[in-house]
Amino acid sequence: MNPEELLALDARHVWHPFTQAAAAKPPMLAVSAQGATITAADGRRFLDLVSSWWVNLHGHGHPAVAAAIARQAAEMEQVIFADFTHAPAAQLAARVAGLLPGDLDRVFYSDDGSTAVEVAMKLSLQYWRNRGIAERDQFVCFEGGYHGDTVGAMSAGHSSGFFSAWKGMLFPVETVPFPATWDGDDSVATKEAEALDALDRLFAAKPGRVSAVLIEPLIQGASGMRMCRPAFLTALAERVRAEGALLIFDEVMTGFGRTGPIFACLKAGIVPDLVCLSKGLTGGFLPMAMTVAREGIYREFLGPDLDRAFLHGHSYTANPLGCAAGLASLDLLLDDACTARRAAIEAIHRVRLDDLATRADTTRTRICGTIAAFDVGGGGTGYGAGIGPRLKAAALDRGLLLRPLGNVLYLLPPYCLSDDELHHAWDGIAEILAELA
Ligand code: PLP
Repeated sequence: MNPEELLALDARHVWHPFTQAAAAKPPMLAVSAQGATITAADGRRFLDLVSSWWVNLHGHGHPAVAAAIARQAAEMEQVIFADFTHAPAAQLAARVAGLLPGDLDRVFYSDDGSTAVEVAMKLSLQYWRNRGIAERDQFVCFEGGYHGDTVGAMSAGHSSGFFSAWKGMLFPVETVPFPATWDGDDSVATKEAEALDALDRLFAAKPGRVSAVLIEPLIQGASGMRMCRPAFLTALAERVRAEGALLIFDEVMTGFGRTGPIFACLKAGIVPDLVCLSKGLTGGFLPMAMTVAREGIYREFLGPDLDRAFLHGHSYTANPLGCAAGLASLDLLLDDACTARRAAIEAIHRVRLDDLATRADTTRTRICGTIAAFDVGGGGTGYGAGIGPRLKAAALDRGLLLRPLGNVLYLLPPYCLSDDELHHAWDGIAEILAELA
């Protein structure tokens, strides 16, 4: 079929996510993706500076991951995960547990970031119930948090008006402020104190009622790459422990090296009770997720009754292809070459952000590992409403795939991105800002 026919099929039959089809331009027809570059049917090439929704770690089509999937597919593509296990699932679980701190040793597999969060929330409720403390049934989350689009994950999220159509089916959660900070922010200590005070007040008002506190550690992604300091997470963890509640880190976006170390919890020196992982887990090849629990949590689900067990699962749980991709991706991630690339990306981000910080129309420059972000406009130098879509369109015209979050422009590239490609991207951003000002 030629590209026109394929696009006509898409227009007739496909329903795209997060898209108002009546107003959106037809999608671009991707025909291949290699390294950091996606190629469209019309020959246009785009540098994937958002790792295709933050999943791709080592570049598209990495031969090592592709080969691991092909080998596994030839051997065993899928097998029911009750009564059976298989080598890739056992090995991947052990390797991820080995990389996580403390006794975060028990891996529950699921399919995507949202289900990893749903599982964490369900586990924490049942953990308390199994211990005979069912009144611990409330969740505390953070303003601006995003945890996915299924019902539990939406209930815990507050990032936008995206969820208003389903208000009726969401359950109430308590929220506290997230002390988002940036380079040179002199109000950060005050914001952190306010957030912790809010948490203290909440715990005091509801002693023994909170099941778990759920946070995107170090960076709230979808609400605009809002970053907090590791010290805030330490203070948060101390309070959550003192109250006796569980601490859930949603590392769906921050996991697998994005913030520098393999996991954000390592940067903060914290052992959460539950960690949600997805996105980069398979290097961006296949949908898969994990919720990793501390051993003590797992043990509360053991006993003679089925009632005590975690009665949750998905058809494709621990899909062998996904697990094989995960193992191959981890090999690449732990290689010194990848560590060096991540450091190089961070160093270039830093220099280029410093350049931007001198402009009056870019504010709140911030960086965490390979993720760099800044606000466009602000301080009375606004580019006007709808700057996000204009930035996106101008970037695409230059062959740069960027997806601003409102007026926040960010880069979250695959680790294979070369120095030249990254400088090219930052040069393009500077040109776009000048053009749109
Ligand atoms: N949690 C976080 C922190 C995320 O950033 C996302 C997605 O962006 C999710 C959960 C949901 O993941 P998924 O889209 O795979 O369901």
